[in-house]
Formats: sequence, C-alpha cells, structure tokens
Amino acid sequence: MPKRIQTIRGFRDILPQEAQKWWYVERTARDVFSLFGFREVKLPILEQTALFARSIGETTDIVEKEMYSFQDKGGDNVSLRPEATASIVRMFIQHSLYQQPLAAKLFTIGPMFRRERPQKGRYRQFYQIDAEMFGFERPLADAEMIFMLTTILNQLKVAEYDLHLNSLGCPQCRQAFKEALKRFLEDKHQKLCPDCQRRRLLNPLRVFDCKSEGCKEVLKEAPLITQYLCQDCKTHFESLKGYLEAFGIAYLLDPYLVRGLDYYTRTIFEVTIPGIGAQSAVAGGGRYDNLIEVLGGRSTPAIGFAIGMDRLLPCVPDPDKEARPIFLALLGEEAVKIGLKWVQFLRKVGIWTEIDYRLGSLKSQLNRANHLKAKFCLIIGEDEIKKGKAILRDMDTKEQLNVALEPNSEIIEKLKGGKN
Ligand code: AMP
Repeated sequence: MPKRIQTIRGFRDILPQEAQKWWYVERTARDVFSLFGFREVKLPILEQTALFARSIGETTDIVEKEMYSFQDKGGDNVSLRPEATASIVRMFIQHSLYQQPLAAKLFTIGPMFRRERPQKGRYRQFYQIDAEMFGFERPLADAEMIFMLTTILNQLKVAEYDLHLNSLGCPQCRQAFKEALKRFLEDKHQKLCPDCQRRRLLNPLRVFDCKSEGCKEVLKEAPLITQYLCQDCKTHFESLKGYLEAFGIAYLLDPYLVRGLDYYTRTIFEVTIPGIGAQSAVAGGGRYDNLIEVLGGRSTPAIGFAIGMDRLLPCVPDPDKEARPIFLALLGEEAVKIGLKWVQFLRKVGIWTEIDYRLGSLKSQLNRANHLKAKFCLIIGEDEIKKGKAILRDMDTKEQLNVALEPNSEIIEKLKGGKN
C-alpha cells in the first residue's frame, strides 16, 4: 500500500462540523462590520518579504523566526503573510485610497502563516478576522474599534473575556522610555535569556514579549511606558478610557502589554479568555499612526485589530438556531420527476432541501432524513401520485398532512417556520 500523505505539522483540516460554526462566526462578524460601516477587501496571501520586514520590524520574532519566506522561481523574495495589517496598508497606498470615504473602514478574513511551535491554540496556518480604520487620529476612533470588537464577542455570546489596555506613546515619548529601559537592563544582562541579551541592544521593547520566567522576573522592576507618556499621548489615552467607560466597556490597564509588532503607536489592546490554556489571547490590536509613511505612503493615522478564529471558536457557544433541511422521500421514477420540481422550487425560495440519491426504500429514506435532522419530510410515492396529494411529515411530532402534489407556495411558511 502506498504511504498515506498527511497534513504538515501545525496545519490542519477544518471538518464540516467545525466549518459550520466557522461560517456562523464569520457571518456574525460580517453583520457587525456592516452595522459599523466596514467594507470587505480581499488580499493576496503571498507578498514581497520586504513588506513584512519593514512594517512588523526586522527584530521581531515574527520576521526573524516565523515567516514562511522563500525565493520563487523568478528569484523574488516572497513570504506567506503572517498577518493582514501590512497587506491592507500596502493596498491602501498602492491604490491611493486616502480620499475615498468608503476606503477608510475595511475588514478582511482569511488565513495567516507563522512557523511557531505548534501547541493547543497555536497553528502554523491560522485564521484571522481583521479590521482596520484609516484617517482618524482622535481617540473616538480607538473607542469605536474596541466597541466593535466587543460587540462581535458579545453577539457570539462569549461568556467571559478580559480586555487589556495600554498606550505605547508616540516615537518621541517612546524614545525616552527606550533609553530608560536600556539603562535599566544594562546591569541585568547576565540575568536575561540569550534572545533578550540581543534584544536589549537592538530593540529593548521586545524584551517585554519574552515568555521566559527569568526575564519576566527582571522586568518586574523595569520602568513602564505609561510613566513616560508625553502630554498629548496622556490626553489621548485618558480620553479613550473616558469613551470606553461611556460605552460601558470594562478594561484592565496593563502597562506590561507591548504586543509583538514594532509598528504600534499609542493605544494597544488585547482580549484574553481565562481558562483556555497558555494561548489565551483571542484578539489584539492597536494604533499605528506612522506605518503608512514607513511603507512609502502619505502620513495617515490608523488603527486596527485581529481576532484569532482558531482560538475564539471553541469559546463560542453553538448557535441556538441550527438550520434543518426539508427532505424529499421519493419512490419511483415518476415521483422523482415531481420531486425534482420541488427541489428547484424550494431552493429558489431559500429552503435547504435534501434528497436520497440512492432512492432506497421509504424506511431507508426516512432514516436518512433523521440522520440529517430534517424537520419535515415530503413523501411522494405511487399512491400519492394517484391521489394527487403528497404527504408532509413533521419529523419531530410525526404528524402527517396531505399537501398539493406539485410545488406551490402554500406550504412555504410552514416549512420556513420549521427551519429552527
Ligand atoms: P497578532 O497578529 O499577533 O496581533 O495576533 C492576533 C490574534 O491572532 C491573536 O490574539 C491570536 O488569537 C491569533 N493568533 C496569532 N498567532 C496565532 C497562531 N500561531 N495560531 C493561532 N492563532 C494565532
């Protein structure tokens, strides 16, 4: 027997049961996005490596260790996208979307790729729901973004989550903080892990990303960014907190939160769900007022977030209303022909309709209907054709009634009512 081929480590299949919930989560997010006036964009999965190196940062874990980068057959350096923000910004600049009001609020949904160590909740191909808002500097935009994120979580009835909030300041106040952090870390060099010893010199803020207990211990005494915020950044952060309170959104101030990407300025936030394991962050985001310029565009403030679908899904209760099909039990070729008219008619009015392609006995067709959790079964056999009436059977109550043999709208309301 030839050796079976399996998925690559860290990659996985999404089977129909999970895919159905996936679809429900996406649909809910899409509904919320349209309430907030966000419009969908679709982006390539492969981009030039330089896009991510310049935006996410050369010395971040993502760019240093985790990207799927390679030279394609033409010799171009390309990478599978590890996140969506850089690509949306590239698109925004490439198509000069600055002045188009409908291009200010965008979302995209799709797979991302990072070669991290696989574990529960961490995959090498994972899916994000990503939203970005361009052109607004004031903290009201930040509050709206966070409100939109919590609206999605609430609509999905995610029971318990924490919203962590911090401000990373602007390049000016961050510079002062970086200097202070460098000074603080200077004589702690020996206590840091080899990665952080390097980070200390190249990009000291990234020390806060470190998971090692030794480094976390050292950082307990470290200066905090919030102590270094300039007046403008402080006011921005205070106004945001005020708006969140007005929205009734609870948050936890977390001065250690830095998030693993270099492009953030001012507001950053992360949503965690307690009790789901080590990978408890289900969403994260922040403001990136300088990124558009860094990537060669016109200075434009912006803010965004990404929800990790793989982690969120297990925390979303199953939707109450599961769609159920109507099943057509057809006995004999003539019945099949009438049945096919029903199939066309019912699907046209938006009703999920199933038939048994094997055309087995009535018993086996009803079994199949039960397997599919059909709410109703429309039975047509020789007798029914003779009488000119089909039988509509309620699969829960087993009640049966006679209905017209040929498709007609009389029973639509009844069937639609049986959807849930
Ligand atoms: P980030 O793009 O790093 O800000 O991540 C945003 C969200 O994406 C995180 O909060 C996670 O929920 C999700 N995420 C990031 N990396 C992974 C991964 N390797 N596997 C599954 N989900 C991930």
